[in-house]
Amino acid sequence: MKCSACGSTALVEGSLIGSADGGRLGFQPADMSTLKQMFGMGIRRIVSYGCIHCRNLELTVEFNEGDIQKYQEFEGQQPGVLERINSGEETV
Ligand SMILES: [Zn+2]
Repeated sequence: MKCSACGSTALVEGSLIGSADGGRLGFQPADMSTLKQMFGMGIRRIVSYGCIHCRNLELTVEFNEGDIQKYQEFEGQQPGVLERINSGEETV
């Protein structure tokens, strides 16, 4: 995996930790009505990578094999969902 900002491979893997109780943050799709059917799920674990060179923080979601298969079945609906997630409408 490379840093999307500077291209460095000097990434350190970690987890996002909630400040209050130490509980990890998860990824919850913004459109639960659609994605709940797709994934049959609520929250997936987030893996984070910090770049030593430029301090960029990258986040990935640990979708499982079942999620990926269901995503591919519903591929036609996905771009709209991703656009909404990327536009910042999601709540934390
Ligand atoms: Zn970087």
